[in-house]
Amino acid sequence: MEVEVPKVFMKPLLVPNKTLMGPGPSNATRRVLDAMSNPLLGECHQENLQIMDEIKEGIKYLFQTQNPATMCISGSGHAGMEAAMCNLLEDGDVVLMGVTGLWGNRAGDIAQRYGADVHYVRARCGYALSFEDIREAFQTYNPKVFFIAQGDSSTGVLQSFISDIGDLCRRFNCLLVVDIVASLGSAEFLMDEWKVDVAYTGSQKVLCGPAGITPISFNQRALNKIKARQSKVKSYYFDITLLGQFWGCFGTSRIYHHTVSSTLLYGLREAIAIVCQQGLKNMIRRHIECSYRLQKGIENMGMEMFVPEPNHRMSSINVIKIPNGVDWRKVSQYAMNK
Ligand code: PMP
Repeated sequence: MEVEVPKVFMKPLLVPNKTLMGPGPSNATRRVLDAMSNPLLGECHQENLQIMDEIKEGIKYLFQTQNPATMCISGSGHAGMEAAMCNLLEDGDVVLMGVTGLWGNRAGDIAQRYGADVHYVRARCGYALSFEDIREAFQTYNPKVFFIAQGDSSTGVLQSFISDIGDLCRRFNCLLVVDIVASLGSAEFLMDEWKVDVAYTGSQKVLCGPAGITPISFNQRALNKIKARQSKVKSYYFDITLLGQFWGCFGTSRIYHHTVSSTLLYGLREAIAIVCQQGLKNMIRRHIECSYRLQKGIENMGMEMFVPEPNHRMSSINVIKIPNGVDWRKVSQYAMNK
């Protein structure tokens, strides 16, 4: 044989126990890790389908929605972005991206790949968008879809007045997509009341579950747009009409769509159970209180937060300005090591 056995596999896997407090994944609790060591199930086993049904109910609580089309995408938060964009968009559709950091630009890149005509409304770095900025951009572009991240993890900016944006979208016959990957569980989010048409979150952030399984929800307006498509959704894997049949969202008999990882389902179910047992409002309050104490401590040390307006700071991701004359690479490296 030309390719030898790699010697590394003669040694056991060693994973260090790191404190995860960056804008990536958070530490999973022992309960979540234990849940993930349960035996595997097939995707169509009744017991697995039951767990999927329970997860759907959990997501409806987390998102505060009654949407039947509530499910998970097998993939990380980016898969949620892709699913939102590829289901809603057809070639030439005008979309507007609200940019408060990296994620509006990323959503624009994805939408462009699905053939959309992409425009941007950008906030000053470290600031949220004003309602006026958004309204003017709506008048200029008349978009069919508007995207905004509730919390942009690259800047720590929290976009407020999403319910006003929801009203604006209805007036312009536009769909509202909100990225709640890094904010859900640390800030109020009311999908139905705020008239959000599509929302997706990350399993590995505030929820402290495993990465790779992304809760997502589509309301009836979003489904109507999908039903009225002239062309097929460009991704089979992310086609919500097919995926929703697998997740039992439409009252039809369930179809096999793909093999969902039962291990990730166990982990996510346990993570959702922990939130349900704490209560969502308590969890949000805890994040806000911890963030407030951290901010006070940072300010007492003579440092500044990156987002000047306190009401526009995320509580899950607290971005601190590196003082002038200090090498940010060294600070970041120190945090990674320690
Ligand atoms: N949106 C936001 C706001 C995020 O913070 C992230 C992850 N940092 C993503 C989307 C993408 O998620 P993932 O890395 O799980 O693909």
